[in-house]
Amino acid sequence: MAMTSQPRDDTGDAGIPARLKEVQERIRAAAVRAKRTPEGIELLAVSKTHGADAIRTAYACGQRAFGESYVQEALGKMVLLEDLDITWHFIGRVQANKTRQVAAHFHWVHGLADPAHARRLNDQRPADLPPLKVCVQVNLSGEASKAGLEPSAVAALIAECETLPALQVCGLMTLPAPAQDEEAQRRPFRTLRVLRDQLATPTRPLRCLSMGMSDDLEAAILEGATLVRVGTAVFGPRPYNTK
Ligand SMILES: *Cc1c(COP(=O)(O)O)cnc(C)c1O
Repeated sequence: MAMTSQPRDDTGDAGIPARLKEVQERIRAAAVRAKRTPEGIELLAVSKTHGADAIRTAYACGQRAFGESYVQEALGKMVLLEDLDITWHFIGRVQANKTRQVAAHFHWVHGLADPAHARRLNDQRPADLPPLKVCVQVNLSGEASKAGLEPSAVAALIAECETLPALQVCGLMTLPAPAQDEEAQRRPFRTLRVLRDQLATPTRPLRCLSMGMSDDLEAAILEGATLVRVGTAVFGPRPYNTK
């Protein structure tokens, strides 16, 4: 069980505790600037392309939520990490032929953008598991991945999800194109928050705003992010790019 199929990078893994601390400190400082409590902002450690050992190292520092983008790669690591109490977030592009595995093995799905995928995830969620938590991905101008729904289509997908008992809609997610200055970074995050405020109701608070990554987490927190998805700043540069 000691071997993983991932290339091991000892230098990178050794740096994880310090980088994790640094990211936690960035989150704390941004929360102070935003006059928010740091506890209201969850760090999702994006471990895609990094090995199970890297996740173990971060886990030993107290990190519990990990984000993966590629289903097969994630399932391999889950087997190696079965002994840990990890909350797994799927942050990749949902594909119809992978929904069964996503529904069976993940706790969260960010990036839901298709009612057919929502129905498949609902139907395929094992009955003994709690509802799958989902965030609806919104494509704001310049979306890097071109994924996500137009803002005008979000309400309908949320309404659809509410008819699906094995899904729990927790909020909205976005992945904007990179921008240099903080004001430009903040714009799409602000748009997502405003959209959330428009769609939220007392019974459907849409509390989660999944936004912000290594290079723009401060901007996202200033605009209300409740979950930042951080890969590079925690684990170092990705050893390969599977896209
Ligand atoms: C890879 C990825 C991240 C993390 O990106 P970093 O720039 O490495 O922090 C966040 N969100 C999504 C959807 C990703 O695919």
